[in-house]
Amino acid sequence: MEETPVTCQEITKMVSRYIDNQLNDKEMESFIQHVRSCPSCYEELETYFIISLATRVLDDSSAANYNIKALLEQNLKENEKRLRHRKIRFWLCLFLILIFLVLDVLLTLHWLGILPFPFAF
Ligand SMILES: [Zn+2]
Repeated sequence: MEETPVTCQEITKMVSRYIDNQLNDKEMESFIQHVRSCPSCYEELETYFIISLATRVLDDSSAANYNIKALLEQNLKENEKRLRHRKIRFWLCLFLILIFLVLDVLLTLHWLGILPFPFAF
């Protein structure tokens, strides 16, 4: 799959269309991809999202209410995915650090002659 690089400027132009669900699949993909990896664009989207939410809540039509729910659900799902990935990365780092720490201690003890290994080093 070809990845089209999108600039922050292009993303800024797409934000309102994203909020209105008017992006096509390809635009949506590059938009989400960019927003996920670009904190400043994400912040921009968040601001627009809150503003659009506030203005749509003032509208009585149930279609608008449905849109808010769908958009919010979509937004929440993306956030959940992001958090999940971040958590996995965190635990993986912690796990690796712990392994290195344990190995370091074991090797030091071995080197000091305190801990003889059953296998040769
Ligand atoms: Zn950006």
